[in-house]
Amino acid sequence: MPNGGVAYFSAEFGLDASLPIYSGGLGILAGDHIKAAADMNVPLTGVGIFYGKGYFQQHINEAGVQQQWYPEVDLKASIYPVQLVVDADDRPVVIRVTVAGRDVYAGAYSVQLGPVTLYLLNTDVEGNSDHDRRLTDTLYPSDHDARISQEILLGVGGARLLAALGIQPDVYHMNEGHSAFLTLERIRMLSAEGVPFETALEAVKASTVFTTHTPVPAGHDVFSIDMMDRYFGEFYWQLGTDRERVLSLGLLDGAFNMTRLAVSTSSKVNGVSKLHGEVTKDLFHRWMPHIPRQDIPVDSVTNGIHIGTWLADGIKGLFDRHLPYGWDVRTSEQDVWTAVRDIPSAELWAEHQRAKAEMVEELGLPLALSGGAPLIIGFARRFATYKRALLIFRDLERLAHIVGNPERPVCLVFAGKAHPADGPGKELIRRIVELTREERFKNRVFIVENYAMDKAKKLVQGVDVWLNTPVKPMEASGTSGQKAAMNGVLNCSVLDGWWVEGYNGRNGWAIDGATDGDPEYQAQQDSEALYQLLESEIVPLFYKRGERAIPTEWINMMKESICTLAPVYNTHRMVSDYWHKIYVPAAARGKRFAADHFEVASRVAAYKAFIRNNWPCVRVKKVEILADHSSRIGLNKTGLRAEIQLGGIWHKDVRVEAVGSDGNRGIWKAKLEQVQQQSKGCFVYEGVSPDVAINIWKANVNVRVTPISPDFENDFEMELAAWGDGGRH
Ligand SMILES: *Cc1c(COP(=O)(O)O)cnc(C)c1O
Repeated sequence: MPNGGVAYFSAEFGLDASLPIYSGGLGILAGDHIKAAADMNVPLTGVGIFYGKGYFQQHINEAGVQQQWYPEVDLKASIYPVQLVVDADDRPVVIRVTVAGRDVYAGAYSVQLGPVTLYLLNTDVEGNSDHDRRLTDTLYPSDHDARISQEILLGVGGARLLAALGIQPDVYHMNEGHSAFLTLERIRMLSAEGVPFETALEAVKASTVFTTHTPVPAGHDVFSIDMMDRYFGEFYWQLGTDRERVLSLGLLDGAFNMTRLAVSTSSKVNGVSKLHGEVTKDLFHRWMPHIPRQDIPVDSVTNGIHIGTWLADGIKGLFDRHLPYGWDVRTSEQDVWTAVRDIPSAELWAEHQRAKAEMVEELGLPLALSGGAPLIIGFARRFATYKRALLIFRDLERLAHIVGNPERPVCLVFAGKAHPADGPGKELIRRIVELTREERFKNRVFIVENYAMDKAKKLVQGVDVWLNTPVKPMEASGTSGQKAAMNGVLNCSVLDGWWVEGYNGRNGWAIDGATDGDPEYQAQQDSEALYQLLESEIVPLFYKRGERAIPTEWINMMKESICTLAPVYNTHRMVSDYWHKIYVPAAARGKRFAADHFEVASRVAAYKAFIRNNWPCVRVKKVEILADHSSRIGLNKTGLRAEIQLGGIWHKDVRVEAVGSDGNRGIWKAKLEQVQQQSKGCFVYEGVSPDVAINIWKANVNVRVTPISPDFENDFEMELAAWGDGGRH
């Protein structure tokens, strides 16, 4: 990577409980990402917001009602030194952004993690009105105006801060869409240097990458066009184009969508697990129905966790003694972890007991741990409804039976915060509190308040089983189960997010996860599967004692889990994937587009404009399947012929292909070659179906034309495709 490195933008960063500027998995991931980058000497700069009062502290009152309070974040309490960013003359660096027509100033704090610096913007500075000083008080305010103001600060302000500090990143990485205004600001900066809008857009796009985390449309930030006009009214023209063009970058269903903006202005988009990558294709396919879901250019990099942050001290000591030297910097090497199998079972069990005892004590659970019992199951994460914290309570009698067996006691520990505006999320908490009071669940079901990284550590290190029961496929990745796995805690989870990839049949338990549309049915199926696992596998295995009264088979499963999951689901592997698959190519692309006064960017912009102007003339006029007598059994190739009208577009600037369904979820494609020119701008293309056992019937195959260029990042860069009439799209 050339000198500028990567700028990593995120609305939240979870570094430590003592710096509460994160809400959940997204922030923890960002924190773990930059910690790994620091460990690995990856040139990266983090950009976020310092929330003066952070995310809220949670108290659950007698009635089970979540109470939120927002104490000032005490910088002196942070285990990471947080410094005010100053210039060469020791004066605080202050940047200015325009928010709804008014000037808002922001200073910045920095957190140093080895070679990586994290910059955090904050508006509580002189020169701002009282209102604006409070703008960055809290994370994820419910108020839309506060939300857009923070996102302007993060995106526009973040880009300005980097410029003020003389940092010129090669790649800009947007961790979720909150920071996507960053791309508009970078276009504005180029425009101010005289670069035309479309050229600037191509240059910015080439060097920007986007990670999406939200598999549901409702989870994406959306602002009304009115709001956009109010907040960006004086910004549009500075980009060197008109209002419509700027808005078109984020326009979706009549509003301005931050995910749409991020996709329009990035050259690479990725989801956070393989399954989530596929689900994201489905989601984007709704915006571009003329592009089959399989062709939507979305990649995936599966999340990982920072082992140094999440591993219990005792387990770390064990690894230090038994794993090859340097294991902690070679975490993504499979070989390093095979030594886990040779750790004496009694030692691993003893360390796990220590972690368990520490958790019980720290969380104040009234439990005696004799011989390892009771079996403790943990469920802790944000109380968002799709995570279905109550799934295990669907059949109370059956659950009471499972947890209440005096010979084989089972405990459940819950923890988590609900977003202050999430009524149904808060109701989950109230209901669990109510259940903890039922006689049959006393001392069996617990809820711990104020879940944050400190308590998360204790839980993922100290419980026996980590439970996750989201509605498939809503869990983009999930990372808490990865933290548990490294610590020898066994996962029992719906096969969603990362667990689809991680589960191998021996390293934990899987609930298939019904994906039938009906939520009741899904819950019924999934809870039944969960009870089955608990009754017939998990509880019996835990209480099955082997030699020296330790559960040998359970411990073997712990080893299997560590060996198979630790090498993959850690941030060293993840950052290395980002580096090779995303950062290095985007840096090269960005450089190439910007070189020689944006020569390539300007060429691509001109080419796209030409194609866009001429595209309305492009037609697939006629599609014929050439009869082939030997093809009745479907094993032979079938000829295809299409008449294509290209108007002013050169035939080498398009790809013509037959696209058919394989009868399953997949598609096949066959390239057609130009064989004849019928008239000016009109061509005949021919080809044969691929050599697979498919039965071609007309409704199942169609021909499409797409614009191509060696300068495109992918074949659907322009999101254009012309199809023949009828047939499938
Ligand atoms: C890891 C972590 C999460 C993420 O939990 P998931 O179950 O993966 O969604 C949320 N909150 C905290 C405090 C965490 O440490």
